[in-house]
Amino acid sequence: MTEIKLDSKIPEGPIGEKWTKHKFSLKLVNPANKRKYDVIVVGTGLAGAAAAASLAELGYNVKVFCFQDSPRRAHSIAAQGGINAAKNYRNDGDSVYRLFYDTVKGGDYRAREGNVHRLAEVSVNIIDQCVAQGVPFAREYGGLLDNRSFGGAQVSRTFYAKGQTGQQLLLGAYSALSRQVSVGKVEMFTRSEMLDVVVEGGKARGIITRNLVTGEIESHSAHAVLLCTGGYGNVFFLSTNAKGSNVTAAWRAYRKGALFGNPCFTQIHPTCIPVTGEHQSKLTLMSESLRNDGRVWVPKTQEDAKAIQQGKKKASDIPEADRDYFLERKYPAFGNLVPRDVASRNAKLMCDEGRGVAQTGLAVYLDFTDSIKREGKKVIDSKYGGKDKYETSMGDYESGMVSEGQQVMEEKYGNLFEMYQKITDENPYKLPMKIYPAVHYTMGGLWVDYNLMTTIPGLYALGEANFSDHGANRLGASALMQGLADGYFVAPYTIGDYLAGMNANEKLPATHEAFKKAENDVKERTQKLLSINGTKTVDEFHRELGKIMWEYCGMARNEVGLKKALKLIQDLRAEFYSNVKVTGINEEFNQALEKAGRVADFIELGELMVRDALDRKESCGGHFREEYQTPEGEALRDDNNYAYVAAWEFKGENAEPALHKEPLTFDNVKLTQRSYK
Ligand SMILES: Cc1cc2nc3c(=O)[nH]c(=O)nc-3n(C[C@H](O)[C@H](O)[C@H](O)COP(=O)(O)OP(=O)(O)OC[C@H]3O[C@@H](n4cnc5c(N)ncnc54)[C@H](O)[C@@H]3O)c2cc1C
Repeated sequence: MTEIKLDSKIPEGPIGEKWTKHKFSLKLVNPANKRKYDVIVVGTGLAGAAAAASLAELGYNVKVFCFQDSPRRAHSIAAQGGINAAKNYRNDGDSVYRLFYDTVKGGDYRAREGNVHRLAEVSVNIIDQCVAQGVPFAREYGGLLDNRSFGGAQVSRTFYAKGQTGQQLLLGAYSALSRQVSVGKVEMFTRSEMLDVVVEGGKARGIITRNLVTGEIESHSAHAVLLCTGGYGNVFFLSTNAKGSNVTAAWRAYRKGALFGNPCFTQIHPTCIPVTGEHQSKLTLMSESLRNDGRVWVPKTQEDAKAIQQGKKKASDIPEADRDYFLERKYPAFGNLVPRDVASRNAKLMCDEGRGVAQTGLAVYLDFTDSIKREGKKVIDSKYGGKDKYETSMGDYESGMVSEGQQVMEEKYGNLFEMYQKITDENPYKLPMKIYPAVHYTMGGLWVDYNLMTTIPGLYALGEANFSDHGANRLGASALMQGLADGYFVAPYTIGDYLAGMNANEKLPATHEAFKKAENDVKERTQKLLSINGTKTVDEFHRELGKIMWEYCGMARNEVGLKKALKLIQDLRAEFYSNVKVTGINEEFNQALEKAGRVADFIELGELMVRDALDRKESCGGHFREEYQTPEGEALRDDNNYAYVAAWEFKGENAEPALHKEPLTFDNVKLTQRSYK
């Protein structure tokens, strides 16, 4: 392995000019030459589909891979609440600079200024692109695109399509991708799992895949490879991610020399349906958009909370004066729309104080009663001309407000309310929702430079698979923005710079020795998993890993716990390789085998996350080290010693990974204690 030098390649110059100047300085591939270059895109979520469609449109030959049966089943389809863009349609003071500022601050000053400003600039183009594709964003009565608010912002800049924004955006990107499939510029490989990246002569040359139906191991060669393989929240077993989301592609790249950035930065989302017991294998998000209208509260006293837990009292039995709207009380400026890390930590704090609700005591209320009445009143005033007129013609004003208000909620969040009711069997129009934080997103990922290239030349990482842009805490509605920015507007420019410096003949044939070796490694790993024939299922190992991660590397972390976790994970790994039972054979559709490979990688990743969390002796964003907090219990950063990106290098099977540090410099935003009060 050659010596790794971290060069972020952030362009010089004023923040607002960096991207424009950089685009001009990038080398171009002549339009007639583009057809001579092949690009592999792994992943068909928003980042992958956008990149593949854009690269094919430019003229490159693109091969696209996903493990699902259709590109449309990528996890992005689950995204609910919305996508940010600095359009300032509401005329409420938004700007590219404000989106940049909010994102750097929201990430607790652990993201690169240059990247974030580019993201904010490009955000406005994304909306235009998607509207042109026919994405049915919500519109106001007058026909203009509507906006709502998300956490960590005091403006309304979130574009949405009911609670199905990801689905609609993905259908847009998928239609662009399908067009390229039909004109022959994209070759699509579904049910194909990338199990290794081939690196030869210091450059990425292609990938090794397993056909998930036949078990066949295949080599695919290209001039460049883009990993758009999503996040790794499922390392915690229970998360809001799609069950198939995994780290394998990124992890295999890490083992081949790509550094892994900030692995311990995990986002725990405050509004999820609480865990009810051991039977669960998945958690469900209730979109952050609900905090536009829902008020978060717990009873003021432990006695009331206990009575609720024991089923002796209901939410409606607690009078207004005995409720603690703790986010509104502690953070009057942002109220229920504080960022996710802050909202999650406070919910945990309330439950730790014994004021949680639900049978388990691990839940807080998200209550829509006030919004229903307020919205209902608005409708009655405008439609019927006020209370008196309403009562003359329609009857009881109070129940009229409620039913009109419920209709407004239905229009805004209908599918989310329905989902909640189906899962909990409680009607959120009538009873407050019960919510609790759950693992949702991973800010960490493969380290990339400004061009989105990893430390392996020719290997790129886009979307949630990379570490960039969100620092230690991602603001709501910014992941879709980043995935689409990377795919539609960044990689299509930056990849040309790499390919222009490469002769088209440089592509290796898939029969090259390097591919054969990588294929054999994959086959050996597969056989090893099948041959152990132990007594514990893959899911049992995964659940155990998840418990360790949640307990010691979850919402709160400390040195003692992290050291314990390190040992527990190492023991779990040893046990996995001596006692896992993987049923079936390779030459068939075998989900136990698929999961085994993914869980094996999750176990290794878990260890790296714990190491990273141990190394970072400060609290920032989602990384809350209990030893480092302000007197009010907020995250206490140490900018003198930890204002860096932690980039970890794989050093061999049983060797400790090496930590490289990319210092973060802030020329535009002043580092302060984050305040949402
Ligand atoms: C429930 C939920 C709601 C959310 N809502 C929002 C929201 O409202 N706004 C917002 O901004 N963000 C939201 N997010 C976050 C956002 O959805 C994700 O961060 C984003 O969609 C990730 O997109 P992606 O393209 O990077 O990856 P993904 O959509 O996860 O796609 C990954 C792709 O990689 C493929 N893949 C992975 N590994 C392999 C492999 N080894 N071989 C082959 N293929 C592979 C998969 O098949 C898939 O096609 C939400 C997240 C969740 C969990």
